[in-house]
Parts: sequence; structure tokens; C-alpha cells
Amino acid sequence: MTVPAATQTFDASLDAVVVGAGFGGMYMMLKLRENGYSARVYETGDDVGGTWYWNRYPGCRCDVESMQYSYSFSDELQQEWNWSERYAPQPEILAYARHVADRFDLRRDIEFETRIDRATFDEATNRWTIETNTGKRISARYFITAVGCLSTANLPDFPDRDAFKGNIYHTGQWPHEGVDFTGRRVAVIGTGSSGIQSIPLIAKQSKSLHVFQRTANFVVPARNRPLDPEERAAVKADYAALRAKGRSRPTGFFFEHNNFSALDVDDAERERLYEKFWDNGGLTFLGVFNDLLISPESNETAAEFVRNKIRKIVKDPETAELLAPRDIIGCKRLCADTGYFETFNLPHVKLVDISKSPISRLTENGLMVGETEYQVDDIVCATGFDAMTGALLKMDIRGVGGRTLNDKWEHGPRSYLGLGVKGFPNMFTITGPGSPSVFANMILCVEQHSDWIVGCMNHMRDEKLKRIEATLDAEDAWVEHNREIGDGSLRSQCKSWYLGSNIPGKPKVFSPYIGGFPIYTDKLAESVSHDYRGFELSR
Ligand SMILES: Cc1cc2nc3c(=O)[nH]c(=O)nc-3n(C[C@H](O)[C@H](O)[C@H](O)COP(=O)(O)OP(=O)(O)OC[C@H]3O[C@@H](n4cnc5c(N)ncnc54)[C@H](O)[C@@H]3O)c2cc1C
Repeated sequence: MTVPAATQTFDASLDAVVVGAGFGGMYMMLKLRENGYSARVYETGDDVGGTWYWNRYPGCRCDVESMQYSYSFSDELQQEWNWSERYAPQPEILAYARHVADRFDLRRDIEFETRIDRATFDEATNRWTIETNTGKRISARYFITAVGCLSTANLPDFPDRDAFKGNIYHTGQWPHEGVDFTGRRVAVIGTGSSGIQSIPLIAKQSKSLHVFQRTANFVVPARNRPLDPEERAAVKADYAALRAKGRSRPTGFFFEHNNFSALDVDDAERERLYEKFWDNGGLTFLGVFNDLLISPESNETAAEFVRNKIRKIVKDPETAELLAPRDIIGCKRLCADTGYFETFNLPHVKLVDISKSPISRLTENGLMVGETEYQVDDIVCATGFDAMTGALLKMDIRGVGGRTLNDKWEHGPRSYLGLGVKGFPNMFTITGPGSPSVFANMILCVEQHSDWIVGCMNHMRDEKLKRIEATLDAEDAWVEHNREIGDGSLRSQCKSWYLGSNIPGKPKVFSPYIGGFPIYTDKLAESVSHDYRGFELSR
């Protein structure tokens, strides 16, 4: 029998509980405090940083330029922090997160090494009961998730996993003390972003390296470099302008781009522009023409340009062909590298194609592909994440009538604006499925959501409202809108983690909002200006 929340005892009674102390949870906490709410953040890890706390694999760094991949809310913070490289390495981003926590005295409101396991909505009180793995029970008016889109490691469940006598690592759960691969025989499984960043560095140390590839990925050179003081100073002198330009772009960060089609120019000019953007480096490669993610013909010109680059870099033609992706460039997340393809020219590095014959099991000394055993000392799983919904669905979240979020999302996530879910009142999902999230500069996304949520809470406080819930109509319309625009983009045309294709049994739903950061910003504002249209607010 369920005990009514009103008669229960709690370890704390708060206005809001925030789950996760990455960039999202940290900023949300700051806003809640500034606006006079009692709130607490609960975090599984023993420090702040989220993504940058967990992903400590060699070569881990951001691929949105650091001057933009950083908080924009405080000009003092922007001015005082000095990024050392165009794309900061993980230790520096983690140091930045810690600096922010100290500077704004956030730690006193964060409970580390505490996982939220369950959250139950009580209709009688319009409050959530939140339970931790440490046995605490907290009552809160609002349940705010900042659990991250890429925070649940996808660790393949190989048969006979325990038979393997060596070490198994996952890039997203990297040992804090680091790993020394010197003299070791290493297998890296997976050639997505984490594999592409780590493989060149693991190759430098290891005695032998086998890279197991299921699907080849498009990779462009990052062209990372130190940032010189003058360049930094120039950005800082007019940071607001750069931020405004970033917000005006679908990606939430600014980069040079052209507003014409790849088919508007002749072959020579197209090649010249691809070379220019290739030399400039980074994900901005896709900005060379404005229809690369819309027109299959245009996309193919870019794809073939990159394939030819791979053929030129990789000396063994067979390996080059295996590394050259056949599908749409930008459909899976584009990756940026430093010396990835060059690594396959090293005599001790071998590519193993597992597209047709997967890894069947682990053995005492390595792994089996078909009848071949690869003997290794260490296995690195660069196998990514149960993206977008993984961390949300790991919690036992129960809304109206005791219905679980897992049940509600059985056929894929449904939300209004990626922020609210019908049947789960007073719950907000920062960068939830249905919001731009992984398609945009995520730090701006978490700022945007946190600002919106606290604005909404202020409105509710002013109007003495106790409950907010997305309406079914708004949710249905938003899901349909997402489906429509997703179908119109080449991004939905391949197997990718955007669709959940990397997780066996996961419903294949294109989760991030693809309409772009500025349009999404307008949608959020429209809802507010029409008295939170799409939500039902009540006393
Ligand atoms: C290797 C890598 C590189 C990336 N590079 C970029 C980039 O260049 N640009 C970009 O925009 N984005 C990038 N991202 C995406 C990145 O995740 C976001 O930019 C950002 O860090 C997300 O912040 P967050 O606070 O929303 O989530 P996270 O940083 O994922 O933090 C979520 C936190 O919630 C905690 N948590 C989850 N569930 C629970 C629970 N039940 N109880 C308690 N705590 C819980 C987790 O432990 C974690 O610390 C990258 C991601 C990865 C993995």
C-alpha cells in the first residue's frame, strides 16, 4: 500500500531536486539559488563536471571551439578564464567545471556519490518523493533532471565476458589514475568519436593495436592548436557579439559558412571550397554548403571529397577502403581527429572489419571474430552511450497514477519541447529528448533550459500555482513536428545513436530536435508569451 506523501517523513523538503552535476545541473542550481529556491543537486560521481568527469580517456576533448563551448551567463567568468587550445582537452574542461563550482560556491548544495534511483509523484500534494541509493528520501515540488544525453555507457554484453583475463575499459568510465598501455597488446572496439580521439594516442604507447570497426565514420581534421593570447583577447573584447552570432546559428555556435548549395558551383570551385574548409578543420566542414544535410546529391560531393582524403592518407588500399564510409556524411555525428587515419599506416596497428562477422565472444586471452582469435592484454570499449534517454530511463520515475516513464516511453520518448512530459507534472528535463541538445552547443542549451525552467517556476510562485504539466495535445503535436522535420533531414537516414540504433531493442526514434537553436528558442518564448501554451497550470 502506498503511504500518502503528506504523512511520510523525509530527510529534506525542498523546492527542487536537481539530478546531475554536469554543466546542466551546476547552472540550474545557481539559478535556483539566485531566485530564492531551496534546492539540492544529487550526483553519482564524487565531483562536478559530468561528461568531463567520466570521460578521461586519452585524447578526450571538445569539438566545439572552447571559446564557445563554455558558459555564457557571466561575463566575468568568460573574461577571467583562459582556454589554452582551440579545442580544450578533458582535464582543462574538468578544471573549468571545478573552477565554476568554486567561484559560485556550488558545492555546498551538491550531494556527491549519491545516485537518484526513484522519483514518485504524489497527486495529493503535487510533490515528488525522490529516493537515493544512500537511503535518503527527499520531498520536492519540482524534479529537474540534468542527467546528460551521453552519460550512460554502452558496454557490450559479450558472451564469456568473464573468461577474459585482461582488463576491459570503457572510454566513458575511464579510470581516474589513467591507463598505461606501454608494451601492451590492445584492442579498441568502436570507431565513433571516442575511438577516433583515443586510437592515435593508444597506438603511440601500445605494442600492438587492433581496431575493431563495425561501421566506418566520416572524420575531418580537428586542426587543434594552441590559442594565442591575441586571439583570445580579440574574442573577449567582444564576447557578447560572438555569443549572439552563435545563438543565431542552428548549431548554437558560430563558424564560417556559406549560404549556397554545393550544386550552385562548378567542380573546381566546389573542390577549392572543400579544401579550404578541410584546412580550417573541425565540424564546421559541414558549413561549406547550406544543403549538405538536405540534398543527397550535394552530400555525396562532400562524402566523396572526404573518402578521397582517406584514400590519400591511408597507404594500404584495402584498409583505406574499409575506413572510407559509404553512407551520408553528417548522418552519424561527424568526428574531428588528430592523426586518426595516419595511425593505420603504423606497422603495429591493424583494422579488423566486424561489419559482417561481429565479435562473437571473449576468450581467456582475447576476443573471437569468426574463427579467428585476437590475443590482447587490454580491451577498450569505445562503444559510446545509451544516448538521449539512457540516464532518464535508468531511474524509476513514476508520474500520475503510478505510471512509469519507461512505460510511457515504451515506443520512444514523447515530450513537449523536450522539457515537459504529459503525466509527469512538475518534472523538467534539461536537454531532454525533443530539444536541440546534441545538435547544438550543449552549454548554451543547458543555460537556455535552466533559464526557462526558473522563469516558469517564478511565474508559478507569483501566481500561487502548484502544478504544471504538458498537455497531451501539445506533446502529440511536438512529437509529430519532430518526426516531420527529422524525416526531412538526411540525418535520420542511417543507423545512428540519434535514433537509438546502437542499443539492441531500443525503439528507433529520432530523438534530438533538428529544427535548430534559434527556431527552438522562438518556440520556448512563444509558449511563455501565451501563458505557457502547451502546459496546464493549476493550483
Ligand atoms: C567525449 C564527449 C565530448 C563531447 N564534446 C562536446 C562538445 O564539443 N560540444 C558539445 O556541445 N557537447 C559535447 N559533448 C556533450 C556533453 O555531454 C555536453 O556538452 C555537456 O557536458 C552535458 O552536460 P550535462 O550537465 O547536461 O550532462 P552530463 O555532463 O552528462 O552530466 C550528467 C551528470 O548526471 C549524473 N547522473 C546521471 N544520472 C544520475 C542519477 N540517477 N543520479 C545522480 N546523478 C546522475 C551523471 O553522473 C553526470 O555526472 C560531448 C560529450 C562527450 C561524451
